[in-house]
Amino acid sequence: MFLYIKQILNDKNRVVSAKIKMYRLKICADCEHIRLKNTMYKRCHKCGCFLSAKSKLLNQKCPIDKW
Ligand code: SF4
Repeated sequence: MFLYIKQILNDKNRVVSAKIKMYRLKICADCEHIRLKNTMYKRCHKCGCFLSAKSKLLNQKCPIDKW
């Protein structure tokens, strides 16, 4: 499972640019729904996703349309 996730996160056709990822994470950092904000395990309380992975994936979006 971990290997599968790692393969997806490294697939250039499934991820956004570093610039877009940083843009998304900046919005999340100011969001009231972020949890574990000051750790590497930042999570969205709305969807439960780990934000380091979610923000990188092309087919993901914020559950309340902030990005
Ligand atoms: S994905 Fe959306 S709702 Fe979740 S923490 Fe980020 S901005 Fe907030």
